[in-house]
Amino acid sequence: MYRALYRKWRPMSFDDVVSQPQVTQTLKNQIKNNKTAHAYLFTGSRGTGKTTCARIFAKAINCLNPKDGEPCLECEICKNADNGTLSDIFEMDAASNSKVDDIRELREGVVYMPEMCRYKVYIIDEVHMLSAGAFNALLKTMEEPPEHVKFILATTEIHKVPATIVSRCQHFDFRRIRTEDIVSRLKYIAGEENLGLTDDAAQLIARLSDGGMRDALSLLDQCAAYSENIDGQIVSNAAGIAGRDYLFDIIEKITKKDAASALRTISELYGMSKDLKVLCGELIEQMRNIMLIKAVDGADDLMTCLPEEIARLKQIASGVSIDQVLMYLSQLQDCSDKLRGASSKRTELEMCIIRLCTGAAPVQQTGIGAGVDVSSLMQRIGELERHAASAPTASSQQSTAAAEPKSVKKAPVKPLKKFDVNNYTPLSEWQQILDILKQRYPDIAAFLDNSAAAIEGDTFNIICASEFFVKKVKASSDTDKLKQVIHDFYGRDFGFMLYAANSVDIKDKENPINELKERAKSLGIEVEIKK
Ligand SMILES: [Zn+2]
Repeated sequence: MYRALYRKWRPMSFDDVVSQPQVTQTLKNQIKNNKTAHAYLFTGSRGTGKTTCARIFAKAINCLNPKDGEPCLECEICKNADNGTLSDIFEMDAASNSKVDDIRELREGVVYMPEMCRYKVYIIDEVHMLSAGAFNALLKTMEEPPEHVKFILATTEIHKVPATIVSRCQHFDFRRIRTEDIVSRLKYIAGEENLGLTDDAAQLIARLSDGGMRDALSLLDQCAAYSENIDGQIVSNAAGIAGRDYLFDIIEKITKKDAASALRTISELYGMSKDLKVLCGELIEQMRNIMLIKAVDGADDLMTCLPEEIARLKQIASGVSIDQVLMYLSQLQDCSDKLRGASSKRTELEMCIIRLCTGAAPVQQTGIGAGVDVSSLMQRIGELERHAASAPTASSQQSTAAAEPKSVKKAPVKPLKKFDVNNYTPLSEWQQILDILKQRYPDIAAFLDNSAAAIEGDTFNIICASEFFVKKVKASSDTDKLKQVIHDFYGRDFGFMLYAANSVDIKDKENPINELKERAKSLGIEVEIKK
């Protein structure tokens, strides 16, 4: 029977897990010293090893002959666990078991002693998908956990997990796996599987899988179905990125403000059953590549595309300004979020394209071509405008400004407006973010005592208590962690600015992209704020 490579080569012990030493070493020590927690929260993007580590942990704490915190892989418990036939280890996917009743079943099971093992282990994947009622039921169980029960909750979206749950768990953050680690793992596995894999091909797979080992191995699998000797060409065929000229066509049309042609291409893709959410993601990916070309010298190794696509991307990049690219990206990201809940994904994406082509000018001026349902577009745009009028806009700093209806015909360019540390709307959820930070990175949280924050467009402004703390935060090697926590919380990227209360602004100069974003903002590139 054929087994997918990512299943076949799933790590069986902590030492096999790639790129997460901060997690595996701590877990091993805890198991060795018999100091494990009742509940764990594993967070990180897909394919970084969360479920794998949960399974290894479940084996190791129950193994009959553990060695140095690792499972022996030979005893009855280890073997049954690896076969998936151990009744004391429960795996549940919250995406498909999100209701109160599902958790109730779990709660009823928790009270019984394990059958074979020392501990019953409940692994709940994608835990952020649980309903509010289910979270409450889970919380009750976690408040009084029986001695013989361990919980491991895993999620890609920690900001959707209630703080009451987070605070009861020991939290481990799984990093994206480094490209070079993925490359060497791919080469090792290819060798064991008698597959030829060129350096180029391994690099390309690693880059396309964006730090996720499972995606990398799935792609290797697909490549192996084409040929036993895998080169760059095979990878691009298998990944379906050969013949994706339509992406560059759409982007080119956007940059030429040719909404009609862009919409026609989308209409054709829609007719061919292309998933529009995926299409939006692909557009974002290529727009990001264009941003890198504009903003960073020699960014080729950061780009997620085929080497032969770089020339076309560079050509498109030469015709747009960085400000435009940042505006495109911001609108596309916004569209991607909205597509999740949109009743008509097609309309949502079409609206986005029209905005990109027109800078959100009135719909009458867009010159929409054939194939577009204009009346439904008008209706949807009307809805959005009402929404925009009731939500605070990027530039509103006083509470009265939010109530002002936003003029549709207002030109997108606004006068330069600097962030004012004496007059801003403080972010109500900042304390929540600080609490997460305190738990994960107490060192940097200490510098943010009595701080405040405010979001303006794509910029995240942090107002520290004093100049001294601003310097401390900036000097800390942990600023990336701070940015990561904020990114995780909102699920999007920001430019960062640090200020001291009652003083002039200090620019965060460490990242050239932040400067560029700030420039975009000062030019009045409109950025819509999400609710
Ligand atoms: Zn064992």
